[in-house]
Amino acid sequence: MDDQAKIFEPGAVAIHGSRIVAVGEVADLIHLPAKRTIDCSGSAVIPGFVSAHDHLFQNAARGLGEGLDFRVWLPDFMMPLAATMTKEEVTAAVTMASIEQARSGTTAVLDHHYAGTDLETTTAVADAVESVGLRGAIGLGLGREQPYPLEEQLTRAAETIDTRPAGSKVEIWPAPGDIIYNDQDFIVSAVELARSKGIGWHTHCSQYKTDPDVYMEEHGIRPVNWLDEAGLLGPDAHIAHMIFLDAEEVALAGESNTGIAYCPVSHGIFGLGTMKLRGLLEAGASIGLGYDGAVAGFRNDMFEQMKLAVMIQRLQSMDPTKSGPREALELATRGGAEFLGLEAGILRPGLLADMAVVSLQGAHMTPRPAPIPAVAYTARSSDVEMTLVGGEIIFENGRCTKLDEDLAMEEAHARSSELLDRLNLSSEIDPRIQ
Ligand SMILES: [Zn+2]
Repeated sequence: MDDQAKIFEPGAVAIHGSRIVAVGEVADLIHLPAKRTIDCSGSAVIPGFVSAHDHLFQNAARGLGEGLDFRVWLPDFMMPLAATMTKEEVTAAVTMASIEQARSGTTAVLDHHYAGTDLETTTAVADAVESVGLRGAIGLGLGREQPYPLEEQLTRAAETIDTRPAGSKVEIWPAPGDIIYNDQDFIVSAVELARSKGIGWHTHCSQYKTDPDVYMEEHGIRPVNWLDEAGLLGPDAHIAHMIFLDAEEVALAGESNTGIAYCPVSHGIFGLGTMKLRGLLEAGASIGLGYDGAVAGFRNDMFEQMKLAVMIQRLQSMDPTKSGPREALELATRGGAEFLGLEAGILRPGLLADMAVVSLQGAHMTPRPAPIPAVAYTARSSDVEMTLVGGEIIFENGRCTKLDEDLAMEEAHARSSELLDRLNLSSEIDPRIQ
C-alpha cells in the first residue's frame, strides 16, 4: 500500500518483535534467519484492516431494529438498549465483536462506547478488545444522554483515560455522542481533555439529513463551520459520517486533515445518504472505513465495507471511473491507520507488523483477478487465514489464538439472550419491523 502500490509476487515479509524489518521478493528474504517461516503460497499478505468507527457493544443485538428510520432507531431502540446493558453483557458482546473482526483481518478499532460509561465497564471494554489481541482506542461516550451531570462526566472521563494513558495498546478517548445534539461548551471541554492527555477524540457529526438544519436552528452556524471556528478540526478529531457537508465544510475538514470515518454499510442500511468521499479525499481529509456496529451492519466484514465503499459512490455519481478497488483497499488499511495515527497500514520496514493473510484460492477466485481487485472485491472475510497485530499472531488455523472462542461464543449467546428477554425483544422477530 505504498505510493507506488508495489506488489511482490511472490513476496515475503520479515518481522522482528512488533515491527516489519524487510519486505521484498522471496528470493531476497529467504536467507534471513527466522524462528518461524510461514508459507503463504496462494495468498495475499496485506496490512491489517482498521475499523475507524464502531459500537462493539451493539453486537449483543445484531440485526435488531432493521428497517427503522435512524432518528427513530437511535432514541426509541438503541439508546434504551444501551442504557440497560450490564458490564457482563457489554463485555461478552465486545469480546465476540472483536473475535469476528480478528477473524476477518481487522487489526485495530476505534470504538464509540456508550453502554455503561463508568470506569469499570469502559476499562472492561478495553480489556475485552485487548484479550483478542486488537489495538486501538475506546471512545468513552459523553453527553446529554449519559446518566451523570456533564461536569461529573468530564471528571470521571479523566480518571478513566488515565487507566490507559497515551501509548497504550488500547487507549481510552473522550467521545461526545454527537456534535449536533450536545452543548458547544461541553464539546470544547471534552476536546481540551483529550489534548491535555495527548490523545485523540471521537464523535458523530452530520449523519442524518436534517442534522445541519437542526444545528443551524439552534446555533446559527453549520456544525463543521463551528468546529473550525472553535479550533476543533484537525488530525486529533475522529468524526464519524460527515455526510451532509456543504462545499465550504468539505474544504474545512480537508485542509485541517480531520479524521473522518466512512461507514458505507451503515449508511446503506439506514438509507442515510452518500458521503462526499471524492471531495473530502481531494481536500485532504484522513479517511478510514468503519463497521459502525453489527446491530446495523449485521456483520463485521471489511471486505463488504470495501466493495460497498466504492459501489455507493459509483451509484451516486453514475461514474465508475473515479473510485476503484485500490482506493477501497487503501481506505481500509493505510487510510484507517493514518486516521488512527498508527505507524501501520503499509508493509514497510520500520512499521508495525499489523497484517492479514488472505487466501486467493477457491471457486470464487478461479480464475482470479489481479491481486488488488481480488482482495478488495472478490475476497470475503472467511478467506482470511491469519491475522497479526504487532507481530503477534492473533488468528491462525481457523481459531483466535489468545482466548477460548467457544467459551466466548457461549457467553455472548447467553448474555445476549438475557438482555433481549429482559427487554422483551426476540432475536427472531423484532415486533417493530413491518
Ligand atoms: Zn456510530
